Amino acid sequence: MAAVIAVEQIRLNYQSILGRLDSACRAAGRDAGQVRLLVVTKTHPIEAVQAVGAAGAHHIGESYVDEALPKIEALQAEGFEWHMIGHVQSRKSAAVAGSFDWLHSLDSLKLARRLSRACQEAGRSLKVLFECNISGESSKSGFPVWDSAGAGRLVEDLEQILSLPGLIPMGLMTIPPLSDEPEQSRPYFRRLRELRDDLSKRFPAACWSELSMGMSGDFEIAVQEGATWVRVGTAIMGPRVG
Ligand SMILES: *Cc1c(COP(=O)(O)O)cnc(C)c1O
Repeated sequence: MAAVIAVEQIRLNYQSILGRLDSACRAAGRDAGQVRLLVVTKTHPIEAVQAVGAAGAHHIGESYVDEALPKIEALQAEGFEWHMIGHVQSRKSAAVAGSFDWLHSLDSLKLARRLSRACQEAGRSLKVLFECNISGESSKSGFPVWDSAGAGRLVEDLEQILSLPGLIPMGLMTIPPLSDEPEQSRPYFRRLRELRDDLSKRFPAACWSELSMGMSGDFEIAVQEGATWVRVGTAIMGPRVG
């Protein structure tokens, strides 16, 4: 069944979120250009992605490799930058290396090695953020950094990952526990920023500029805590389909 795409609604939502992002930056004393909007289009059809592109979006986020590949293929002419934000199984490394520009959810040394090899084979490079599980929720992927032992293991893994060819480390990403109260996310965002500050001292040769944090419900809090990417799906695209 063909879905009716609310092109005009998507445009209005996109404009509205840009406006809120701008206000949040101003209120936090940050330049609007310091925080980029990643539009998350998972479960939404190609026509809806096209609609948000027509509204001005350039960075598109997807969570599932198999769902994303046909969209990337169909929308080549749009010139989008594609961001993978969901957990990647190692066997999907070649597909990610071949089609995506960014990976926000690099969550293991094993995956990093596989992606590095795939990038070299494809003659491409991939910008990566290290996903951090700060809350300790077992449902979440990410490097387990909720205690100091876990943070120590991340440092050990980074000693190997940072020298892998084909991967361009850019920073950190996190997903706080689901909550109706945006303020609940703040400690997780703050912890991610502190962790980034620690890592940038420990590994000063690498780039640590990016903090990917904040979604539809809490992106304004994330901006206050230093986000450079906010990942917004529902508030722009509408409820997830299917
Ligand atoms: C789906 C998803 C988002 C977008 O969530 P919304 O609440 O719809 O804005 C952001 N980040 C990740 C990792 C996601 O999987």
